[in-house]
Amino acid sequence: MINVTKSYLPDLQTYLKTIEGIWQNHHLTNRGPLVQKLEKDICHKLNLNNLLYVSNGTIAIQLAIKALNISGEVITTPFSYVATTTSILWENCKPVFCDINPHTLCIDADKLESLISPATTAILATHVYGIPCDVEKIEALAKKHNLKVIYDAAHAFGVTYKNQSILSYGDISTCSFHATKLFHTVEGGSVTAKDADVFKTLTLYHSFGHLGDDYYTMGINGKNSEFHAAMGLCNLPMLDTLMASRKKSSELYSSLLSGVNISRPQIPADTQYNYAYYPVVFESEKVLLNVKETLFKNGINTRRYFYPSLNKLPYLSETNACPVSEDIAKRVLCLPLYFEIEEEIINRVCKIITVTI
Ligand SMILES: *Cc1c(COP(=O)(O)O)cnc(C)c1O
Repeated sequence: MINVTKSYLPDLQTYLKTIEGIWQNHHLTNRGPLVQKLEKDICHKLNLNNLLYVSNGTIAIQLAIKALNISGEVITTPFSYVATTTSILWENCKPVFCDINPHTLCIDADKLESLISPATTAILATHVYGIPCDVEKIEALAKKHNLKVIYDAAHAFGVTYKNQSILSYGDISTCSFHATKLFHTVEGGSVTAKDADVFKTLTLYHSFGHLGDDYYTMGINGKNSEFHAAMGLCNLPMLDTLMASRKKSSELYSSLLSGVNISRPQIPADTQYNYAYYPVVFESEKVLLNVKETLFKNGINTRRYFYPSLNKLPYLSETNACPVSEDIAKRVLCLPLYFEIEEEIINRVCKIITVTI
């Protein structure tokens, strides 16, 4: 079975060499030298002021909500992975869904203002598929209404907007380094904060709220291990190669599907994209289901990223309509895309799509 993704694995000897020191220093976790080196190397690679390596991309969002003292209503995107919404719920806040822009599939910045109420304290938006949100409009609006901004940049590692890492936007940007993501550390994630004090708070929170014998605040365990960091240290130097390979495969998809009745999200100007996913939007859900089933019968497992539209989650007590997101979520499918995916597979996928629709 060909899956929608296939995790990149570094050369085994390189990984073994990276973890060798653990057998001398017995430093397995709790901010060991490999975790600190990974943080430093990512900051250097992406030109960031700070980055805290945490255990996953979900705890990263929860830490961000806590560190910014967010309560009440959080305006968020309905078109993302479920963790974006559940993190808000888990922190006892109320998600208020803002519909998406039909071209970028990110939160529609022009629809945000009408959703702001006296209870609104923050905006949590996702750079979905690695496509940057309208960060300028969002920042202006946040300033005007005194709101915090968190970006879920789980898909956006390596993306730059106006020559700056996309992780440098917002009060806090979170990332996921899960095995299914473009850059991964098996499990893992990160938070990057604009403000140095907020970063300090994030650091305290991710490690039980204490430093040695000094107990400052309550916290949680959001740390990650030396073994995970070692995977990151092996994969990080490959970032440009990983993105270049995916770019080539994405371009092959686009050329083979050029005459086919599908649409594709648009990447805003001034963006250096990371080619994290290859989503296609079909004419109807019926066509999508037909294509998905035919591909599956031919050994190709696609994924409905992202369905359902998150405002439709069955456990929400209160929700609001998002017609664009609900419509796109029913019709969008991610095709297989990973490092050095064989051209033959892309040809096969495109041929099946072409004859099925
Ligand atoms: C993967 C993902 C997450 C969660 O990250 P984990 O590391 O799996 O916890 C959050 N948001 C989005 C948009 C994601 O795709």
